Amino acid sequence: MTSQDLKVWNHVLTQVGKSVSAQQFSTWFQELELSQLTHDQVTISVPSQFHQDWISNNYYSVLQDAFQSCTGSRPKILFAFPQTRPNTKSVQKSTLSPPPRVQSRLISEIQLNDHYTFKNFVVGPSNSLSHAASVAVAESPSLTYNPLFLHSAVGLGKTHLMQAICWHILKEEPQKTIYYLSCEDFVNEFITSVERGELESFRYKFRHVDVLLIDDIHFLAGKERTQEEFFHTFNTLYHAKKQIILCSDSPPKEIPTLEDRLVSRFKWGLVTKIESPHFETRVAILRRKAKIRKIDVPLDVLHFVAEHIDTNVRELEGAINILAAYAAAKSQSIDIHLARQCLKDQIKVSPVQVSIDTILELIVEHFGIRLSELQSKKRSRSITFPRQICMYLIKRLTNYSLEEIGGYFGGRDHSTVIYAIEQIKKKKSSDPEFSEYLEKLVRILKPN
Ligand code: ADP
Ligand code: MG
Repeated sequence: MTSQDLKVWNHVLTQVGKSVSAQQFSTWFQELELSQLTHDQVTISVPSQFHQDWISNNYYSVLQDAFQSCTGSRPKILFAFPQTRPNTKSVQKSTLSPPPRVQSRLISEIQLNDHYTFKNFVVGPSNSLSHAASVAVAESPSLTYNPLFLHSAVGLGKTHLMQAICWHILKEEPQKTIYYLSCEDFVNEFITSVERGELESFRYKFRHVDVLLIDDIHFLAGKERTQEEFFHTFNTLYHAKKQIILCSDSPPKEIPTLEDRLVSRFKWGLVTKIESPHFETRVAILRRKAKIRKIDVPLDVLHFVAEHIDTNVRELEGAINILAAYAAAKSQSIDIHLARQCLKDQIKVSPVQVSIDTILELIVEHFGIRLSELQSKKRSRSITFPRQICMYLIKRLTNYSLEEIGGYFGGRDHSTVIYAIEQIKKKKSSDPEFSEYLEKLVRILKPN
C-alpha cells in the first residue's frame, strides 16, 4: 500500500461522508480499511461478514461513486474480513458481482415470531389451499407458484404463513437470501432513497434477493411512483426466477388504484384466499394457542369461545390470552364460569336472531330435498310438508311478516303462509311424536 493509495482512501472516505449521515458513517465506514488498490479493483477490509453484507447491499454504489470522483474510474470492489484478511497478494474472492452469498440470510426490519411456523398453523378447509401453496413455495422457491398472492380479511393468518415460509427457507436453504418486509417499509425506503439520491443501492438491494416477501401489499394503493418501481423490481426478480410472495387484505383487482399491469402480474402465479375458519378449525386453533401458552382449557370452554368468536383468529387468540391472565391473577383453573365472566366484553351473548337461511338449510338437510324445490311451486306432499314446517319455524323464530315469508317461497301470498302454519299447528297438537320432533328442530336452531 503506497502513501498515494492511503491519500486516495482518505479522499474516498471524505466523499462518502458527504453522501451519508454522520450516524451511518460512524456505523459503517469508520472501521473500514483499504487493503489493496489498483486502477480497476479495490479490496476493502471489513470487520465482519455482516458488515460486508450491509455495505454491499446499501452502499456499494456510494463507494463506487466516491472512488470515481477521486480516481476517475469506477473500480470493482472486493471485501475481506478478519479471518481471511488478505495481505497485498492474496485477495479474498468474495465480490459484489455476482452478489455475495451469506449463510442464513434474512434481511428484515421485522422480528420473526417464533410461533409463526408451519407446525403451529392449524389447517382446515378455510385455509388449506393457502397453506399448501405456502408449503410448496417454501420447499421449492420459484419452482411452483410465482408469485404467490395470499389474501384475506384481517387476522386470518397471512402474516403467520409468510413468516412460516421464511422460517422454513432459513432452515432448509440457508444460502438463500430472503427479504421480508412490510409494504409500508418498501414505500418508505423507496421515498428515502429517492430523496437521498440512493435509488441505485435501493434497486440493487431489492433485485438481488432469492425470495422477496412483502406483507400487506395493498398499501401500494394510490402510490403511483412506488408502484412503478415495484413493477420493475417484480419483473427483474420474476425473470431471474426468484420467488415473490405477497399478501393483501383483498384480491389484486380490488386493490384501489393498483395499476392493471401489476394486477395482471400478481395473477401470473397463484392467488389464494384464506376464509374465516369453521367451528372445528376454530376449536383446533384455540387448543393449539392454549398449548403454546401452556394453559389447560377444558373442551366446553373451547367450544364456548369458538361458538362466539367466529370471524377472526386474532380475536380467538386474544380470548385465550385473557383467560390465561385471569386464571393466573385469580390462581384459579379455567372453567366455563370464569370464561363467561372474563370474556363478556369480547363475546356478545345477545339473543341469537335465527336466520331464514339457517332454517332452510336445516330442513333441506333433514328431508334430503333441494333448496330450489323447497322454494318452487311444486305441490307434491314430499315437498309441501317440509315447506310448511319451514314457514311455521320462520314465523315462530324470526320477526319476518307473513308476506315476507311468502316471498321466500316463490312469492306465495300471506294466506298460503297462514294456511301452512295452521296445518303444522294442527298436526303438532294431534301428534306428540311430531310435536317432539318440531321442538327438537327449535332447540337445534335456538340452543338457549
Ligand atoms: P393477518 O396477517 O391475516 O392479519 P396473522 O397472520 O397476523 O393475520 O394472524 C393473526 C393471529 O392468528 C396470529 O397470531 C396467528 O398465529 C393466528 N392464526 C391465524 N390463522 C391461524 C391458523 N390457521 N393456525 C394457527 N394460528 C393462526
Ligand atoms: Mg398481517
